[in-house]
Amino acid sequence: MTTILIIEDEPVLSRILQSYLEREGYRVLTAARGDTGYDLSLTEKVDLILLDLNLPGMDGMEVARGVLKEKDIPIIMITARVEEVDKLSGLEIGADDYITKPFSPKEVVARVKTVLRRYLKGTGQEKKLIVKDLEMDIDAHQVKKGKHIIELTPSEFEILKLMAENPGRVYTRLQLLDALQGQAYEGYERTIDAHIKNLRAKIESDTKKPRLIKTVFGIGYKLSAEDD
Ligand code: CA
Repeated sequence: MTTILIIEDEPVLSRILQSYLEREGYRVLTAARGDTGYDLSLTEKVDLILLDLNLPGMDGMEVARGVLKEKDIPIIMITARVEEVDKLSGLEIGADDYITKPFSPKEVVARVKTVLRRYLKGTGQEKKLIVKDLEMDIDAHQVKKGKHIIELTPSEFEILKLMAENPGRVYTRLQLLDALQGQAYEGYERTIDAHIKNLRAKIESDTKKPRLIKTVFGIGYKLSAEDD
């Protein structure tokens, strides 16, 4: 479970942020002082810190410097000072983003998601494959085209996943069959053609002119990431 640590000395603000983040499924820890927040960040497993700049005990800058010396945690600074200098120095110390008060909790949630996504991409932990308007969430076993969720059979999912891992790479029917290892299949290369046909019907806007799954004559198929 993704854990967010809120270090904020205004109790009302802290509570509002907490409830919004919990509603999004995050585990939330809170601290009302810089020093206690800093301690929590070291003793608990924390995935992101929302850090107020002006805090009792230890100010936000010190907390950020201290945390980043010990751990690699994305930090979003919350600041009441609007001066550009403060924003810049906030980012210079390694904070990933900053938010200026007053802000809407919804905006904060959106920023948290963006920073986490960017951060997970950098660490290679994100299990999402994106090709054009197609998005595969590997853990959730879900495929989306634009905003629409597409229902795939397990075989279709495995074939698409293999191709989406290396867009542009051509796969032979045999290689695609290998992706179905451990699943019951009719065991013949031509079954791949049937799966591809079904996949196209689900993910292509025009099955006669497929933009995503291209046939490479005499070899097999590839998932195309290029516009044409
Ligand atoms: Ca404050």
